Amino acid sequence: MVDSPPPSSPPQGWVHKVIITIWAIGPLLAFPFAIRRAVKTRRIGKKVVITTVIGYLLTGQGITLGFHRLATHDAFKTHPLVKGIILALGSAAAQGPVITWVDNHRRHHINADQPGDPHSPHADFGDGWWEMTKGFLHSHIFWLFKDSPEDFGKFTKRMQDDKTVAFIDRTFVGWVAAGLIIPFLIAGKSGLLWAGLIRMALVNHATFAVNSICHMFGSRRFETKDESRNNWFIALLTGGEGNHNNHHANAKAAYHGLTWREYDLTGYVIRALSLFGLVWDVHQPTEEEIEARREQLARRAAIEAQGAQPSLSSERSPVELSRDTVAAD
Ligand SMILES: [Zn+2]
Ligand SMILES: [Zn+2]
Repeated sequence: MVDSPPPSSPPQGWVHKVIITIWAIGPLLAFPFAIRRAVKTRRIGKKVVITTVIGYLLTGQGITLGFHRLATHDAFKTHPLVKGIILALGSAAAQGPVITWVDNHRRHHINADQPGDPHSPHADFGDGWWEMTKGFLHSHIFWLFKDSPEDFGKFTKRMQDDKTVAFIDRTFVGWVAAGLIIPFLIAGKSGLLWAGLIRMALVNHATFAVNSICHMFGSRRFETKDESRNNWFIALLTGGEGNHNNHHANAKAAYHGLTWREYDLTGYVIRALSLFGLVWDVHQPTEEEIEARREQLARRAAIEAQGAQPSLSSERSPVELSRDTVAAD
């Protein structure tokens, strides 16, 4: 069997660093301009506010529903047209082409908070304040400045053959441009600043907070091997992705909020799309399976706390479990 060719590799070296610097700083520069303009005219404008909120929700869902739960974890099935629309919205968030995003995120699950995790705040950092600050900044944004691993594409071989995914991946820059041009056409220069650039910065930093804050601050329902946490505030900003410890324990689950108290807008969107027959085969463990998983992880943590390897025949290594719960590709 011949392997699929690797996806067009992201730029490397200084070209990559220049692109990421412009991408990281550019949207932030919009803040002073937008605020000065608002102070001068003493208004932002209803149209600009509505366009910004809708842009935030649509591109945010493009990431959480599309890039994350659908493309990375295969948590539900959908029609190629619906998939194309959701992944185009995710591309407009400007967090990189979908195949690159998925490749990084699958590496994160398989090596969570261990060497090989591209954005762990813990793997290469110690426990002191300075080390923790460096770990936080690395996991939030600075990991993006590193070149792609040599085996880039290893975890996305099957999805490279999906025509819809390959098309959206190839046309990534066009969707980013559309995410700036459409707000400009709707609401002029203020639309470009608020609903284009500032929306982009807000969605991106909310997503990055899942990688940084949700591996450092929050509660743990499951004693996963990694340091993932449930953080209600980040869940609020990210349509439910802040329920990150729930997600690491059951990575293929479509719903990240396990009770009504755990806000999960993306879960409600999946339920609504399913009612209209737009998505199907929604993967969600039963309450009994979730409880069994919680007990299994607690048992393993107890064995490891005693200094023994969890070698019971019914137990498997955390890495194996991670592989099971990250969509096979
Ligand atoms: Zn994580
Ligand atoms: Zn995930």
